[in-house]
Amino acid sequence: MLTEELERYSSQYLMQTYARVPISIVRGQGCKVYDAEGREYLDCVAGVAVNALGHGHPDLVMAIEQQARHLIHASNLYYSEPQVQLAQQLVKLSFGQKVFFCNSGAEANEAAIKLARKYASENIAPERCDIITMHNSFHGRTLATLTATGQSKVQQGFAPLPTGFSYATMNDIESVKSQITDRTAAVMIEPVQGEGGVVAADQSFMKELRALCTERRILLIFDEVQTGIGRTGTMFAYEQYEIEPDIMTLAKGLGGGLPIGACIATDTIAQAFGPGSHGSTFGGNPLACAASLAMLRVIQDSRLLEKVQATGAYLKKGLQELQRRIPLIKEIRGMGLLQGVELSIDGKSVVKDCLARRVLINCTMERVLRFIPPLIITQKDIDHLLNVLSDVLNKRLKNP
Ligand SMILES: *Cc1c(COP(=O)(O)O)cnc(C)c1O
Repeated sequence: MLTEELERYSSQYLMQTYARVPISIVRGQGCKVYDAEGREYLDCVAGVAVNALGHGHPDLVMAIEQQARHLIHASNLYYSEPQVQLAQQLVKLSFGQKVFFCNSGAEANEAAIKLARKYASENIAPERCDIITMHNSFHGRTLATLTATGQSKVQQGFAPLPTGFSYATMNDIESVKSQITDRTAAVMIEPVQGEGGVVAADQSFMKELRALCTERRILLIFDEVQTGIGRTGTMFAYEQYEIEPDIMTLAKGLGGGLPIGACIATDTIAQAFGPGSHGSTFGGNPLACAASLAMLRVIQDSRLLEKVQATGAYLKKGLQELQRRIPLIKEIRGMGLLQGVELSIDGKSVVKDCLARRVLINCTMERVLRFIPPLIITQKDIDHLLNVLSDVLNKRLKNP
């Protein structure tokens, strides 16, 4: 089906929850994707930080093929080897000791919220059930996670919202302190706010936050749905802050494209979940876990984290050079291959102009261009992205 036809059918049959860019991607290879008309694009969105190994990575494809022939789904009524193996890997790689699997970021955060409430109310004090999150955060679209999300625009029209959430300001420890009450169970934070405009937590803030939570017996939850699995140049972003959370959530990059989410916690906290306290029909199914295991193997075998550190730094340097030449660029922010460019103009038209030049980029918070390419992107592809961006912004500068 050609794009025009798809647009018509989509508006006829689909709930109109997405403002889509008018192309239909039908195939991908590495960092390139192809539309229904056969045009090639450089993909610097990667399914919103999902396709970490790009498209069609042979190891990932093979793992999925083999597992699909074996067993796609059986149910959590039974034991599952890929699920245990993946949990073991995640425990090896992180601070965590126990894992719960689900299918998305929102679900991983739901699990984290439920776990924190159950642990705190049963083990610290019965009234401990409130969660503090940050303004401009993004934690998902379910009722609890959109309430956790510190942006009123996503909450509009969905009242009554669950109670027990309040909001503090990122990088302002006094603001967190002012939200703490004797009902506070946890603080939930993204090390780098992705949807919220690529805003990273400061080193000093994170250290103070960790100390504050420990002192007040408040759990610290890191939402690493976007930053986890190598995106920032380390397996998890928390490693770069030299602190550890008590609970961490993962999703986007975890399955290399298959839907999978995880909530990871220390043994002590994980004890709060016993049989029947939480669950998911599809969570941790063999197919998604096999894909995820292949992802983790490729990351380790190809020394991908070191490459992300190098290409992330290269992208940042290139963007900073553009900033010196183009006054429309206000600020460059981010870590690793999660980079943002704050503009003084609306970003949507820049995304459109890049699309016309066959480069896919994304924009959040109206004015922030976000670059979240596959982790396998090369310097050559980054050069191409920078050239196109330079042309597009320069043209915009001349004809505002
Ligand atoms: C994308 C995202 C979510 C939501 O993930 P879904 O899979 O869409 O439910 C939650 N938190 C963060 C930080 C995200 O980037």
